[in-house]
Amino acid sequence: MEDVELVHDARAELGEGPIWDAAAARLLWVDILRGRVHRFDPVSGQDEIRDVGRPVGVVTPARDGSLVIATSRGFERLDWETGRVSTIAEVEADVPGNRMNDGACDPAGRFWAGTMALDEKGAAGSLYRLDPDGRVSRMVGDISISNGIAWSDDARVMYYVDSPTHRIDVFDYDLATGAIANRRALVRIEPEEAFPDGLVLDAEGFIWLALWGGAALHRYAPDGTLDRVVKVPVSHPTKCAFGGAGLDDLYVTSATIALKRAGKPLQPHDGGLLRIRPGVRGQAPNIYG
Ligand code: CA
Repeated sequence: MEDVELVHDARAELGEGPIWDAAAARLLWVDILRGRVHRFDPVSGQDEIRDVGRPVGVVTPARDGSLVIATSRGFERLDWETGRVSTIAEVEADVPGNRMNDGACDPAGRFWAGTMALDEKGAAGSLYRLDPDGRVSRMVGDISISNGIAWSDDARVMYYVDSPTHRIDVFDYDLATGAIANRRALVRIEPEEAFPDGLVLDAEGFIWLALWGGAALHRYAPDGTLDRVVKVPVSHPTKCAFGGAGLDDLYVTSATIALKRAGKPLQPHDGGLLRIRPGVRGQAPNIYG
């Protein structure tokens, strides 16, 4: 195991969606079912919280200085200073059993995020694209648990995870229009090993995947070859993000909900925000707008 630091003992229920907010020099992340957006300051070690009041799957900084979140209501804007939430576009507001989950922005500022059933059953979810003008398009249907999304350096490939498929898939991507095509499998995870969850790319274009239930991160080459396994002291890492001024720290969120549901004891770091020095830098994350 590499040096893993517990930077915030959050005991999150479903810690998710870490992303470096370069303008604020903070790490944003969410505790989904508690409806909380967190903002961690690596310098002071302080972690601030805003309560959204409903499940929040993911957060992204926006070009106008606000934050955009994907909630059980749809795409919404969060003003950090006031804590005020205003709806940009409703998504599946007529489907009370669904909520929005993981997401990310493409290099043109479109915010992609998918939905899933709260009871995690069936393929009731879809993948949506929020354009900078506020319009929403449904891009893929029949999704179970919509998770990791990222783009290759040249933005010609979009990586995508629907966790119960146990795969990382890729689509051809048209950055000019935001269209996707030609979905195919890139990586397969052994079902007994773990579920693939969130992912992020580093500066070399390699993919960092969190293994839900696998207590590890996997690093893959762009062709899908497994390059590295990083064990972590949490059973359910959910997603990682490069942060810090040099983008050379790797932050990892984690969850306690699966252990609690199974009646299993928590280990000291479960639900915490972790930091690793992976020896490779990340890319500055895309933002909305
Ligand atoms: Ca996730």
